[in-house]
Amino acid sequence: MGGTSVTPGAGRVRVPYCSPVRTERRSIQRDRGPVLNVTFYGVRGSTPCASDDLARYGGNTACVVLDERGQAPIVLDLGTGLRFFGLDWARRNGHSDFRATALLTHLHWDHVQGIPFFAPILSEGSCIDVHGPVQDGGSLEDVVRTFLAPPYFPVGIDSLPGRIDFHETTAGEFRVGEAVVRAGWVPHCGPTLGYRVTMGGRSVAYLSDHQQPGVGSTEVDPGVLDLCRDVDLLIHDAQYDLDEFAARVDWGHCTTDYAVEVGIQSGARTLVLFHHDPSHTDDRVDQLLERAVEQSTERSGPEVVAAHEGLTIALAARRESDAADLRVRADAAASAEALVGR
Ligand SMILES: [Zn+2]
Ligand SMILES: [Zn+2]
Repeated sequence: MGGTSVTPGAGRVRVPYCSPVRTERRSIQRDRGPVLNVTFYGVRGSTPCASDDLARYGGNTACVVLDERGQAPIVLDLGTGLRFFGLDWARRNGHSDFRATALLTHLHWDHVQGIPFFAPILSEGSCIDVHGPVQDGGSLEDVVRTFLAPPYFPVGIDSLPGRIDFHETTAGEFRVGEAVVRAGWVPHCGPTLGYRVTMGGRSVAYLSDHQQPGVGSTEVDPGVLDLCRDVDLLIHDAQYDLDEFAARVDWGHCTTDYAVEVGIQSGARTLVLFHHDPSHTDDRVDQLLERAVEQSTERSGPEVVAAHEGLTIALAARRESDAADLRVRADAAASAEALVGR
């Protein structure tokens, strides 16, 4: 995977369960220009978990941040990894005047639990725009207010000093700063969106939770394929192995085999296995990654990596003429500056 050891030094903030030996920076280089950093703060599905045998990939739930210099960050999901993004942000930029846009796939716990623990939103003057799927039983804001209130949480959302603005979202396109965001419905349990973010010719698709149609199925929803078509980076549900899926066939997720299938059928250039099952140890994720790499290589599919906390994938701005010249490399020199050391 090309990671290098980084010893936490004085003054550095070490992110718990974000092992410094796994801090890694990868670059997809096409041209010189502004770099879009895609950083993984939470990669686990279903529930946060903590133990030594899964610390290398990390136990925080879904949170990925797209960050380009001069642009407000775009946050993909607000799971418990959000807390560590907040700490990282506050350390680099202070607490004031935080502005960001969050793209929320759906409202399951593992995608929203980080909200009240996000340091920047605990400061006045901060503001986060949250786009999330329209709900069946009330507005998006109403639904969030229901669980972010006593007795589920000690205080209500209005007690948070920062401002959260909610935007009911359905399939379609909208702008966030210089980025074009496309939202599309993804099969899961309840209303669930996937997002494609395009900025400066680079594209990232995020489908954290995706229901595979059935055991051994290779059928992919046309809308999903459209969302992921020829994307530079596809971040995709990879919760189960074959046996686990067979036992949980309607739990809303898919196998790593199916993630590879989506990557191949959509023409994605790099596939990131994401939303690891809480029962999967680091060794198990390694095995599933190895299998996925073999499958994709055999079919000339995308490069495959497994998301871990502290991984930053840098997407350089590109010219269309470079589209076929995709190279992914581990940047050892830059790794020391990634998440824990910036
Ligand atoms: Zn989930
Ligand atoms: Zn879910």
